[in-house]
Amino acid sequence: MKQPLNIVKVGGAILEDPVSLRAFIDAFAGIEGAKLLIHGGGRSATKFATRLGIETTMVNGRRITDDAMLEVVTMVYGGDVNRKLVASLQALGCNAIGLTGADMNLVTSRRRPPVNGIDYGNVGDVVSVNASGFKDLLSIGAIPVIAPLTHDKAGHLLNTNADTMAGEIASGLAGIFDVTLTFCFEKNGVLSDPDNDDSVIPLIDRNLFASLREEKVVEGGMIPKLENAFAAIDRGVRQVKIIHYSRISTPGAGTTIV
Ligand code: ADP
Repeated sequence: MKQPLNIVKVGGAILEDPVSLRAFIDAFAGIEGAKLLIHGGGRSATKFATRLGIETTMVNGRRITDDAMLEVVTMVYGGDVNRKLVASLQALGCNAIGLTGADMNLVTSRRRPPVNGIDYGNVGDVVSVNASGFKDLLSIGAIPVIAPLTHDKAGHLLNTNADTMAGEIASGLAGIFDVTLTFCFEKNGVLSDPDNDDSVIPLIDRNLFASLREEKVVEGGMIPKLENAFAAIDRGVRQVKIIHYSRISTPGAGTTIV
């Protein structure tokens, strides 16, 4: 029987708010057994860039990562956000270790070619996940905390979408672990009415996703999140949930992807 592994991705809004962050850290620390955290941090990167006088350009909700912005995201994701999460977890007795995809060659990527004429810059699409590297870390009881940065064959760091990284890491580890992937954010789950936090849709399959998308019930960042979720299920991840950051371990809460 494969060992259970909980992979959690935490979204940007939670990292920005100290009260939410505290509640999330407590919930994550409470997960039993092997676990791994992947974090975003786009909002913090935008703030830091502004402080440095660097303009943030978004196209279709995605960041253009020019060379100056790559320096910012490397400092913010790989430094400030990652290390603060590690320190908070260590304070609760969790043996967290902060890493990027470049460490131990954990996640490699390839620079994304221009999409419909738009060059997103130093952005990486995941190519490989070093499952045995993750296994080694988990086998010594470490809790990897992964920043959304990867590297290509030439050794260039690339900004990589955190939801995609979570889905790819979960899929890459599904062969050796019994993986549960949890996307946690500030809402109670995928909602049928975005203004009503009690309208959680408990189960979503591909057919329902297609109609929710067509009816524009599911929009923006939720669309790629669900696409990542279905891709992970197709690649052997046992369970994928989309859930409020304080209810990671609450049975029956949130949305389950089937
Ligand atoms: P993250 O918080 O993980 O960084 P995103 O901002 O990319 O993630 O995606 C989550 C966002 O998706 C929510 O904050 C919400 O505004 C939006 N969203 C769109 N449709 C829905 C829906 N039906 N239910 C819940 N959230 C939705």
